[in-house]
Amino acid sequence: MIFDIAQPSVAIAGRTDRWPVRRILCVGRNYAAHAREMGKDPDREAPFFFSKPADAVVEDGASVPYPPLTSNLHYEGEMVVAIGMQGTRVPEAEALSHVWGYAVGNDLTRRDLQTEAKEMGRPWDMGIGFDISAVIGAVQAVDAVGHPSVGSIKTIVNGVVKQDADLHELIWSVPEIISILSHSITLMPGDLIMTGTPAGVGALEPGDTCTVSIAGLGEITTHISEPA
Ligand code: MN
Repeated sequence: MIFDIAQPSVAIAGRTDRWPVRRILCVGRNYAAHAREMGKDPDREAPFFFSKPADAVVEDGASVPYPPLTSNLHYEGEMVVAIGMQGTRVPEAEALSHVWGYAVGNDLTRRDLQTEAKEMGRPWDMGIGFDISAVIGAVQAVDAVGHPSVGSIKTIVNGVVKQDADLHELIWSVPEIISILSHSITLMPGDLIMTGTPAGVGALEPGDTCTVSIAGLGEITTHISEPA
């Protein structure tokens, strides 16, 4: 190889080895109230997907410098699914067997760039897939946490609750997401799926502390610092 490139990775709860991040796949508008706040009808849409580069990943507890070219950086608290087994055209009934674990995530979004891209019919990449935009907490094994499908998902900024929903409000469940996605691409070990955010998205500013918590999976904290 002409260059050595570091393998992006995230922590695994209770272990010293790490989770190699292959891809970060994201589900759009997967909570009805969030679809409505983005001006869409949640009842009429098939799920759609976009992605962040693997090296956009950020650890729990990290300080994230306010990113360039935006004046509307948003938090999006999300549950993250960690894929541990290859899957193509996976039936819904088998989908959970492809899950190695779960994590708490924060899908940081340059909302102004995303909105402009939408309006101009352009790709979302620069709104979504920018550097250090995927906060992912430690991956927790299914053996330890099961398959969370109900329970609180909450985002708190500087002590103020901004998103307060329940995992059961997901429009497309984890088995449905895995099945549908695997009919489009082959899922591989190391893939992470950010399952979508509830209503209540909003802006972060330098100096803010943003915490996302999910019942049974704990919480992650991100501090937004001055632009680098
Ligand atoms: Mn998102």
